[in-house]
Amino acid sequence: KANVMTNSDVGAFVLFGGSGDLAKRKLYPSLYLNFIKGLLPDDCKIFSVSRLSEQTQAFQADIFLQLERYVSPSQFSDEKAKAFVKCIRHVQLDITQVDAWTTLETHLENFRQSPIIYYLSVAPRFFGDIAKGLSSVSLNQNGARLVVEKPFGHDFESARTLNRELRLFFDEQQIFRIDHYLGKESIQNILALRFSNNIFESQWHAGAIESVQITVAETLGVGDRGDYYDNNGASKDMLQNHMMQLLSIVAMEPPFAFSPDAIRDEKVKLLRSLRLITPEVYADHCVRGQYVAGSGERGYLDDIGRDSSDCETYIALKAYIDNRRWAGTPFYLRTGKRLAGSLGEIIINFKPSNPELIRSKSGQCSNNQLVINFQPDQDIFLFINKKDNQSEMFLVDAARLQLSTKSGDLKLPYERLLAHVFEGDQTLFVRDDEIEVAWQWLDQLVVSWSAEGSRPHPYDCFSQGPEQANQLVTNGSGWERIK
Ligand code: NAP
Repeated sequence: KANVMTNSDVGAFVLFGGSGDLAKRKLYPSLYLNFIKGLLPDDCKIFSVSRLSEQTQAFQADIFLQLERYVSPSQFSDEKAKAFVKCIRHVQLDITQVDAWTTLETHLENFRQSPIIYYLSVAPRFFGDIAKGLSSVSLNQNGARLVVEKPFGHDFESARTLNRELRLFFDEQQIFRIDHYLGKESIQNILALRFSNNIFESQWHAGAIESVQITVAETLGVGDRGDYYDNNGASKDMLQNHMMQLLSIVAMEPPFAFSPDAIRDEKVKLLRSLRLITPEVYADHCVRGQYVAGSGERGYLDDIGRDSSDCETYIALKAYIDNRRWAGTPFYLRTGKRLAGSLGEIIINFKPSNPELIRSKSGQCSNNQLVINFQPDQDIFLFINKKDNQSEMFLVDAARLQLSTKSGDLKLPYERLLAHVFEGDQTLFVRDDEIEVAWQWLDQLVVSWSAEGSRPHPYDCFSQGPEQANQLVTNGSGWERIK
């Protein structure tokens, strides 16, 4: 084991699962974008590892076609893509075979004096064996970095076991656990907005904020991921990872420094203070749903080809954070498939100011809202009240201030995350204790709905989700409509 060197002097990038879907759609395009921006080290070699029997030249030609397909036309250049694919070598290897690691060692012999990045874009059951295999030929040394994809476990115990397996051979400073939401521009912007603007940070507490809503909605169904999805549901697929990450960034205390561990320490502290949803309070705090046929679409059970399933394709929560800053402020979280729209949104609802003194045409003036959209668009809006210039009386109306400015192509999440791995910066990656505490919280939620014997409520395709979820929102004007 060895400490990570925090420089970009990376010798090689090894992509386990280099012939897979994630690699083709996201990873090569993101590596290419870093390449054209000069962010990859000179002479960087990319080794694609899989069982595919293909010569490097044919493989490079295939990756060129994938780049043409998945890189935006404004960033694709024939010439640069040709130069980029020349960096790629295909290594045919079955990682379950005993001789796999000595074969890989031979390929990496000339690169092992510099840090090597290993990206594990393979099924999680291989993670432990890969870490062990690399260590067996000392390829975990000299600042090597290990990047692992989600899902990271399916509960607290499995995540802890996986962490232990990886840490037998790699230090925590060498492990980069991906949550691609952390690579989104708007999510980074939450930190910038909160900690560089006194007008926000001074108001970022229960005294000024009435509630927070976090929504990740999709119009898509489960598609061909039925088997995976039915064992996990919205709670494990979205809530435990992406939604908990968003929540921790929105609500954490200011870190003492802008360093990876100072930030992650605060995120862990926040997750630890998230109140458990026990069986006694479950019914008032959580609603699960499952989409049924409607609007010309098949229901979930048809999609997965089963007669019955208790798996939730929708989950909504009212969560509380037991610390001084957030005492009493509800955090409403919801995520689901086959909903009325596809969006990712965080809404900070501020408390009303002088509701009886100043009115709008329709009565009470609106509360201030900060709206952070992180998908499909990355926008930030602030709604504030101003005098209604069409009225003679002293009435106000709400103005929408756009806080985000777009200039050129925004970095894609994987593009940014890969750049950070090359730099050896762990800020945007999930630490072992973060993952474990998020699973502990979710495990309790699963126990609670099991104890209650509750089944997911049906909801129509392309609706707002099950009606029962409306009862969770006990203040303000309910859930923001999904459009
Ligand atoms: P995939 O398309 O099934 O690709 C799996 C890759 O692993 C292939 O390149 C496969 O190549 C390789 N592989 C399998 N067994 C191997 C073995 N014994 N030796 C060497 N290589 C082997 O899966 P994916 O969708 O790319 O997903 C990869 C990982 O990322 C999974 O953990 C997944 O959960 C996660 N993930 C995927 C997405 C996504 O959008 N796809 C999003 C988030 C997370 P061969 O079969 O040719 O050996």
